[in-house]
Amino acid sequence: MPIAGVSLNSEVQYLKGVGPVRAALLSSRGIHTVEDLLYYTPFRYEDRTRVTPIRDVMPGQYATILGRVLTCGLMRTRGGMYIFDLSAVDASEVAAGLSRQPESGVSPTGSPPPGNTASQIAPPVGRSPLSRRGNMIRCKWFNAAYLQKNHIFRAGQRVFFYGKVEHDQYGTGNLQIIQPQYEILPEAEEADETPLEVGRVVPIYESIGALTPRVLRRLTWNTLALVEGQIAEYLPESVRHKNKLLDRGPAIRLTHFPAETTDLEVLARFRTPPQVRMIFEEFFNVGARLALKRRHQKTAVGIQFRVMPSAREVIKRILPFHPTAAQKRVLREIVDDMCSPHPMNRLLQGDVGSGKTIVAIQAAILAIENGFQVALMAPTEILATQHFLYVRQLGLPYEVDLLVSARKASEKEDLKRRISAGDVRLVVGTHALLEEDVEFARLGLAVMDEQHRFGVMQRYSLIRKGVTPDVLVMSATPIPRTLALTLYGDLDVSVIDQLPPHRTPIVTSLFAERDRERAFEFMRDKLRAGEQAYVIYPLVEESEKLDVRAAVREYEHLKANVFPQFTVGLLHGRLPSEDKEDVMRRFKAGEVQILVATTVVEVGVDVPNATVMLVEHAERFGLAQLHQLRGRIGRGRGKSTCLLVAAGGRSEVAEERLRTMTETTDGFKIAEIDLKLRGPGDFFGTRQAGIPTFRIANLVRDQEILEWAKREADDFIEHPASPHEWESFVHYLRHEWPRRYGLARVG
Ligand code: ADP
Ligand code: MG
Repeated sequence: MPIAGVSLNSEVQYLKGVGPVRAALLSSRGIHTVEDLLYYTPFRYEDRTRVTPIRDVMPGQYATILGRVLTCGLMRTRGGMYIFDLSAVDASEVAAGLSRQPESGVSPTGSPPPGNTASQIAPPVGRSPLSRRGNMIRCKWFNAAYLQKNHIFRAGQRVFFYGKVEHDQYGTGNLQIIQPQYEILPEAEEADETPLEVGRVVPIYESIGALTPRVLRRLTWNTLALVEGQIAEYLPESVRHKNKLLDRGPAIRLTHFPAETTDLEVLARFRTPPQVRMIFEEFFNVGARLALKRRHQKTAVGIQFRVMPSAREVIKRILPFHPTAAQKRVLREIVDDMCSPHPMNRLLQGDVGSGKTIVAIQAAILAIENGFQVALMAPTEILATQHFLYVRQLGLPYEVDLLVSARKASEKEDLKRRISAGDVRLVVGTHALLEEDVEFARLGLAVMDEQHRFGVMQRYSLIRKGVTPDVLVMSATPIPRTLALTLYGDLDVSVIDQLPPHRTPIVTSLFAERDRERAFEFMRDKLRAGEQAYVIYPLVEESEKLDVRAAVREYEHLKANVFPQFTVGLLHGRLPSEDKEDVMRRFKAGEVQILVATTVVEVGVDVPNATVMLVEHAERFGLAQLHQLRGRIGRGRGKSTCLLVAAGGRSEVAEERLRTMTETTDGFKIAEIDLKLRGPGDFFGTRQAGIPTFRIANLVRDQEILEWAKREADDFIEHPASPHEWESFVHYLRHEWPRRYGLARVG
């Protein structure tokens, strides 16, 4: 019975049954409005359609039964536990009329409410009435004093019970259900509550505090009735038509309360038409948003670089090796972008060690030869320093400098002045280069080596002062394709899918802590053969100091007791940067044979002669991190080995991570597994701005719908069926959709 005034935009706290406490719980999950509530969809479904007469139920079976309460009450066990005990006699034979009755007149939808009709009740069979016992069942709830206190059950009530049927523990052959789910049928004939718990396919929601699936189910059901006919459509008609998608209203309703004819197997896979429509919608909106952004970027005025002989000349002179075919291909793609009149926004993807840096440097040379400056940015100071050392060693014929906070204030001031005068042609630094008060005279290209610390939003702060510089984002984390599409869908993507020649795949083996000495022995062999090694200690951020101390202690120990005949160096984030640079330089030069390090070497360090990496407490590292770390070896021609030393008693997830590491070196495979183990939200360590939290779509499960929806979204934004359709959808996307997803507005 619609209450006047409830719409999709109404706040949930004004719904009947939602007071301030529940409203606060809902809001903790981002559910503020009725629409938000309707997008809180079930994560699975349970088939409780069939009502089985008690005499037909089999022990071991999950069954829905309809019983009439005979007796009930609280019992105390000898252990002091309270058990609520209820006995019921079968009432299914009158159920046919019963369970059908309530839905007439209370359908929240006008059309038959999904799924609740005609619970498939076995017809009364012509057997003679059985003994009471064969027709009886006990239900028990542990620690359920509340059932007594709140007078939930009374003799004579008709109740649906759902649960696993078993023999009771006394060997009498009597049947019982422990902790069944239940729904009490209304007494009065005119009762207006449709049973939602049983006799249907039941949606299961993730609990929100005290809001159980049961409460959410009822709330959603009632809310659907209130907004019946008010669920406006946003997906463009042409898109819906072309892709044969259900309308939003029925799609929402049937996603919560599936039709009784629904194929349960398809439902479980989230591939029924209503579910597909909902998933498609989410992906389509994200896709369209990215397509809009991209369109916006494409129309901006950029720099039109020219390829001139001097650039070719410099590149030829500094290249230390022949680029691989993949490197040549991506460079071509980058150069084409740079020579176009619009700003480049390109992602350069490639596994660790695939040789992205040199490609970026070639692009930098082109920009500099055109008279512009280049900023090369890394996520950490140590990586920035690495890049700087790498560039310097190439011997570029330009003024190159490093801007990091560790440098003296006076040096920094001077450097900034030379940058704004246009003297420094290549500036290496952290992403702070964009935020600090650094004024470039003529910034032409910004290269961001983001590794897996994506600063998605930072890219756009470059658009300033008329001419927009070109942007090249490098990512060493092989991002699962689904994430790449949602995160970087506004970028063009180049992939280096080939490692430099003569690489031998890294062999990874796992050691228990008690076998550590064997791993050390292996290291000694390699060191004696003139190769170098890393020993890595985990760094857990909350206790960085402690970790550093642990690393220092281990370093002392390794130096004095384990590898006394070798030179051992120490590298961690808290060292002054001169010390960092110094130890890195000596490791590179081969003076230091073993580098003990925290995860600061995760990125960027490049010493081809280092062929062994021993990782302590490998069980504590994330998969992506282990992969990044391991990418520090296997960079030369020699065979490389990664030794993972892990504590026992580890979790199953840790076990799977370690197993994955020993089984594959394929970064994309590792990324897919990582995504599965962690879930999309955690994939990047923290929730990043720009990654929408999907309500129903699931990046692991729904990849093919994502690709389909993205294709359709690109197509719609670029070639809309009608300008009117385009305008109204884009209006929705800009003004209404972002709020629901907590996203910033699209430019
Ligand atoms: P990424 O940044 O993709 O992890 P780098 O650019 O650091 O990889 O390159 C990894 C190593 O491979 C470096 O030592 C680099 O000099 C070397 N390298 C890159 N490209 C080639 C190539 N085509 N032939 C030989 N060595 C290469
Ligand atoms: Mg690199």
